[in-house]
Amino acid sequence: MLPWVVRRTRLPLLSLLCVDCGSESATTGEGRFRVNANGKLLHVWLLVRCVSCNRTRKLAVHERAPVTSLDPAELAGYHANDPELVASRLLDPLFARRNRFTLDWKGAWRLDTPSAWLDEAWPVKVEVVFEDPVPVRPDRLIAHRLGLSRNEVLRRITCDIPLRRPTSAGFTITVMAGD
Ligand SMILES: [Zn+2]
Repeated sequence: MLPWVVRRTRLPLLSLLCVDCGSESATTGEGRFRVNANGKLLHVWLLVRCVSCNRTRKLAVHERAPVTSLDPAELAGYHANDPELVASRLLDPLFARRNRFTLDWKGAWRLDTPSAWLDEAWPVKVEVVFEDPVPVRPDRLIAHRLGLSRNEVLRRITCDIPLRRPTSAGFTITVMAGD
């Protein structure tokens, strides 16, 4: 079985309305947190900025969390603006839902495929795995990578999940020989 790997090439942008200029795109830039301790309570925000007017906005990661409820290593990561922590918070679906943004993955990911394709005997089985939660439509991914028309995808591909619904969970496809 051939592995195809979906992985990000950078952090995605955020689709988030700017109250100043009306732009709907924001970035985490180099990735910064702000931590504020108020007695025994902590606030942690991820800072994002509008790509068009640079207005900065704070997205709540923790609000009024008891200091003792946070893992000290995690807290140190917020203070250090740890890039992995920035990525894991940004890509956390709960964080996105709470702060009312969606991720804009355009141009922020790639599909890595082995070149051994031509040596395989038909039908070819491909396993698509996700290193990052990029939502992709299986039919488009397959059509694009194999240079197939929509009709060919329908005729030659079988897949263990619906072909037209975006997913970021792994799936398997089988490609039949062409005519
Ligand atoms: Zn703006």
